[in-house]
Amino acid sequence: MSNAAVITPVGGPSLPQERRLVTAIPGPRSQELLERKAAAVAAGVGHTAPIAAVAAGGGVILDADGNSLIDLGSGIAVTSVGNAHPKVVEAVQQQVAQFTHTCFMVSPYESYVAVAEALNRITPGAFAKKSALFNSGAEAVENAVKIARKYTRKQAVVAFDHGYHGRTNLTMALTAKAMPYKSGFGPFASEVYRAPMSYPFHDGLTGPEAAKRAIAMMTKQIGAENLAAIIIEPIQGEGGFIVPADGFLPALLDWCHANDVVFIADEVQTGFARTGAMFASEVFGIVPDLITTAKGIAGGLPLAAVTGRAEIMDAAHAGGLGGTYGGNPVACAAAVAAIEVFENDGLIERARAIGVILQERLHALQAADPRVGEVRGRGAMVAAEFVDPTTGEPDAALTSAIAKQCIAEGVVVLTCGTYGNVIRFLPPLSIGDDLLNEGLDVVASALAAH
Ligand SMILES: *Cc1c(COP(=O)(O)O)cnc(C)c1O
Repeated sequence: MSNAAVITPVGGPSLPQERRLVTAIPGPRSQELLERKAAAVAAGVGHTAPIAAVAAGGGVILDADGNSLIDLGSGIAVTSVGNAHPKVVEAVQQQVAQFTHTCFMVSPYESYVAVAEALNRITPGAFAKKSALFNSGAEAVENAVKIARKYTRKQAVVAFDHGYHGRTNLTMALTAKAMPYKSGFGPFASEVYRAPMSYPFHDGLTGPEAAKRAIAMMTKQIGAENLAAIIIEPIQGEGGFIVPADGFLPALLDWCHANDVVFIADEVQTGFARTGAMFASEVFGIVPDLITTAKGIAGGLPLAAVTGRAEIMDAAHAGGLGGTYGGNPVACAAAVAAIEVFENDGLIERARAIGVILQERLHALQAADPRVGEVRGRGAMVAAEFVDPTTGEPDAALTSAIAKQCIAEGVVVLTCGTYGNVIRFLPPLSIGDDLLNEGLDVVASALAAH
């Protein structure tokens, strides 16, 4: 870094809520960090926005050069309560001064139990539930599969086209997309099968039709007598914010229940108010057997969970689940605070209001520009899919050009989709309407410029 003294601002909602560019992106200080990154950090660890972040809160991210960027990604749906939320900060500061770790498997502590109690209460389903805590979404998915196998005494697992479940070996096997997630990293875990997803924009099928297609594949190619679980994101995240047709998820769930197959909803991206409900399963009227959560759970601290029917969760023998850090006390204190914010500060309603703005603005773009093939999503999880209007083919080049221009103009947006042709909007629920609209103005002008 250069020698001039930099006062690092404190993050949180009191940061000035404005888009402000004082240098080109990246500015000189960010450039210096990116050079150090290139020299010191493995090339496989990429980044979207070429900045050195120094503070964040409300709806902005500040960089080391003094630029203030509008955040429409929440660090991939993590800082839903807002970055450095004061209640999360306070809970973390108190806990970190008390104790940082005992290992829950050695000396249990209250905050872990409190998180489990809260998850058992706020997840869908009126039956007895239990939870287990882990460090990352991938780890939660791995453990949900372990639990389902132990419970059913079966081995096969079905994931879906366009699905994303993580980067560990089993979760790479569950994930659909080769580049960048899987290519060259095999061999992958066995007994993982892929079923066709409901993708109305591309397949034109109703929910029941798409479910029939998936069930036929599972019956013929695997056999329910071999199938421990299916795992599905109620709205697919990395795969392109794919919203299944109505009736698809309920039909799959009914089939699972008729065939002793555990239905796992991977709500790592959709959970915690994001879709305008506490969990996206509620949006589709389903009650999964197990739910995996992570991302939004703890206001930015690493924490993940599996929650579900007590008799399934209890199938694993004592010592069969856990990990050194799973349910770390600092992360648990943050989660207790974050869940209180979700419940008490009206964030479900806020996600819906943000959704109304996103849908209105993006549908207006679609009406004026046929390259916007579809706008879809629920609550504050909305995406636009870009296509060539004459052929209907995915337009990844346009998508990445728009995203690059947005970032250069101080708006952090994320892309996704099997074909790389989707821009997803996951703003922190603490963003103000003005800032959100300004961010969408920049998206609109970036589209117009290409
Ligand atoms: C991000 C994500 C994961 C993986 O979570 P990590 O914390 O990155 O391991 C799993 N499933 C879904 C749906 C996700 O969006």
